[in-house]
Amino acid sequence: MRHNRGLHMKRWFLIGIFSVLCLGGFWAPQGTAEESIPARKDIEPEWYFPEWLGTSPYTPVFKALDTVNKYGRYAQETKTITLKDLIKFHGHFCGGLVESAGALRVAFDLLFPKGIIDRTDLRIVSNNSACGGDVAAYLTGARLRFASHHINNSLTESEFFIRRVSARKTVHVKLNPEVYPVEVKTQMKKIESGKFTPQDIDRFQELQWAYARRLVNKPLKESFIVEEVRDFKWPDPICRDLGARKDNDYKDAPLK
Ligand SMILES: [Zn+2]
Repeated sequence: MRHNRGLHMKRWFLIGIFSVLCLGGFWAPQGTAEESIPARKDIEPEWYFPEWLGTSPYTPVFKALDTVNKYGRYAQETKTITLKDLIKFHGHFCGGLVESAGALRVAFDLLFPKGIIDRTDLRIVSNNSACGGDVAAYLTGARLRFASHHINNSLTESEFFIRRVSARKTVHVKLNPEVYPVEVKTQMKKIESGKFTPQDIDRFQELQWAYARRLVNKPLKESFIVEEVRDFKWPDPICRDLGARKDNDYKDAPLK
């Protein structure tokens, strides 16, 4: 009896030690990307990246999951993508880039509740905006040439249909029209009309950046309308068939 009680106490002692170690973060189950530590964020200011864009409270940041190689398996860790990364890809910091990244952040929150975006598992419809289309391609991994990125010019800029293929779930997101500043639109039309002064170009940048700053200083959900779309019929490809994407086809290959 005494022997059994001793064993019992020893067992509880070991469970206690184990729990303390787990809660203290000394041990974590190995392997899955959803538990991995995100890479360091690069938000150092640059001439093309003002400090406030990296540090504002609602600046969107993304954790992306990819494969490790051509014909590779899923990576064990994620990558962190910041607006700076998007700017490097797109070429400049503009209102459309921040707006589209905000829209996709809100949509991904519905599609990926655990916060990690699987870039091997997404399709997207955007309009042909240089800015929004680039953000769509970079953040989803979808590509026009593989028919996973579709262009529909009846959508507004920063309006998207995004599909998580494996979950058969499609989300529609767009800017709340009340959020878009009239003065940005007016200034854009003035420049596009061809009747503008050099000051108008500078003014447009000021207005766009001020708009972007407002977007990242309040909860993104307040600026966008997002909803799940059931039975969304995916549009036919607009690009002729150039061959299927195959590099991610082995993402679930067994380890042994
Ligand atoms: Zn742009």
